[in-house]
Amino acid sequence: MLTKVEGFILSTVDYGESSLVLNLLTKEYGTIGIMAKGVKSMKNKMRPLVQKYTYGFFYIYYKEDKLSILKDVDIINPLKNIHNDLLKISYLAYISDLTKQVTKENNDREIYSLFISTILKIENDLNPLILTNILEVKYLKYLGVGLSLDCCSKCGGTNNIVTINGGGLICQKCYNNEAIINKNIIKLLRMYNHVEIKSITKLNIDNQLVDQINLFLNDYYNRYTGIYLKSKNFLEKIKNI
Ligand SMILES: [Zn+2]
Repeated sequence: MLTKVEGFILSTVDYGESSLVLNLLTKEYGTIGIMAKGVKSMKNKMRPLVQKYTYGFFYIYYKEDKLSILKDVDIINPLKNIHNDLLKISYLAYISDLTKQVTKENNDREIYSLFISTILKIENDLNPLILTNILEVKYLKYLGVGLSLDCCSKCGGTNNIVTINGGGLICQKCYNNEAIINKNIIKLLRMYNHVEIKSITKLNIDNQLVDQINLFLNDYYNRYTGIYLKSKNFLEKIKNI
């Protein structure tokens, strides 16, 4: 039976001369594999639509546990703003790769809406670094290493929090020479953790703090997630130009 799903192409792999296998993040089924037969041929009308980073409705013959078959595509949003900007497309490449890794660990349906809300905000010119960091904070729980930011991780107290260590807060009483992290970073991490991405309309955060949070998250991902992505290295290079 032909099924309509809403989705985003995270990556594609060539299959033979003229076909592609799509890694599609869908609202309905999480990440699924789709065979797109003949879409690389010049005569195929789907050719311009079926590419990496297409956001649309996909009409498929859905098959559990094997490749579904693509029949047609309708674009929902061409993401023109992102595609015309090297920095923005580099962010999109990174968060697409990251999302692919996250859905390998956990195919929770909420990941789709977090991801789509983030790219739509980047398309609408909100700060891509802050949005990416917010998404990174939210993804940690699906990777099994979520930040615990509500109380001291040792005693459960909520007063006199002095730093964060290994994903948990530490209060003055339990403090034992861990590195001190700026209080504003803890406050912002908490905000990143709780904010609903869809409802963000502006992001006015001090640049220095934004950079510090980014460094904190880079370090945290390196230490605790085991995820290493070339697109992340590329993004770090592009950002500094
Ligand atoms: Zn404590």
